Amino acid sequence: MAIRLAVVGLGKIARDQHLPAIAADGRFELVAAASRSAALDGVANAATLEELLAGGVAFDAVALCTPPQVRHRLARLALEAGKHVMLEKPPGATLGEVEDLRRLAEARGLTLQATWHSRYAPAVEPARAWLADRALRSAHISWKEDVRVWHPGQDWIWEPGGLGVFDPGINAFSIATRILPRPFFLTEATLHTPENRQSPIQAEMAFVDTAGAPITAELDFLQTGPQSWDIEADTTGGRLKLSHGGAKLWIDGVLTHEAPEAEYPGLYDAFAHLIGAGASDVDVSPLRHVADAFLLGRRVAAPAFA
Ligand code: NAP
Repeated sequence: MAIRLAVVGLGKIARDQHLPAIAADGRFELVAAASRSAALDGVANAATLEELLAGGVAFDAVALCTPPQVRHRLARLALEAGKHVMLEKPPGATLGEVEDLRRLAEARGLTLQATWHSRYAPAVEPARAWLADRALRSAHISWKEDVRVWHPGQDWIWEPGGLGVFDPGINAFSIATRILPRPFFLTEATLHTPENRQSPIQAEMAFVDTAGAPITAELDFLQTGPQSWDIEADTTGGRLKLSHGGAKLWIDGVLTHEAPEAEYPGLYDAFAHLIGAGASDVDVSPLRHVADAFLLGRRVAAPAFA
């Protein structure tokens, strides 16, 4: 029998990625949606998850596609009602919230999936395999996009818990924590925060891995012209560049891997397997790097952003 699914929050990511991925995966049946502003044809609709649960619609799992600030409350509600939960990235507004959810899911025997969609970009696993056989000398992350193009009207991104430039930047950390051969941790960060906003618009970061290899990151929300979602690594056995958010792999300047994008089908495949196995996947390492930046980072005032 298909896993009966409800979606909460019909914003950009729900419409662009979740709904098509669910429709294409026969293991799931979308039966309900909770939205303050919209309704979907052919499913039960309610304004909130509370109303959906109170209405008695039968479903097994829920995908939370809201901003991170409301994720913990919704996830707790769903887990307490006996539902498996898929969390959009980042999995919560704090590490403590996510730990609370992990414990609750475990206690109830339910699946909790903290998703990192960029890890399912097609060249990520080939990059991981290539790096596993080589000694890393250094790595650099360049994640530069125009917030006006990619996040129009998303005021939540500037609020506490919205992460600002770390909203896309955390995708880079989700890839780096997957492909780099050793754990790494933050040593320095500078966070540029517009004087009229709560979250950074640019950040520079320095990390070191457990063998002493330096890793740097430049995150920029004000990039106009060419955008970059790149990770470069220098090793004793050559240079790797993972570009386009993990879609293309270059070794010593030669394109060696490129495949059609299928991140969200990959996430739903993993969700189905986790539910089938009675397991959870809650890796907070990308969020920990962001939390460390807020703990250690030097704050610099930036011009107002409108
Ligand atoms: P969005 O377009 O602003 O949509 C979020 C939706 O969540 C809203 O449309 C709203 O839907 C619902 N919502 C519930 N409570 C809310 C609140 N307090 N404030 C605002 N909205 C609320 O945002 P999004 O781009 O879909 O991003 C949602 C999450 O997905 C974020 O964590 C983001 O990092 C992640 N994500 C986004 C992208 C992307 O390309 N945009 C890619 C990957 C991951 P209703 O009106 O239906 O209730």
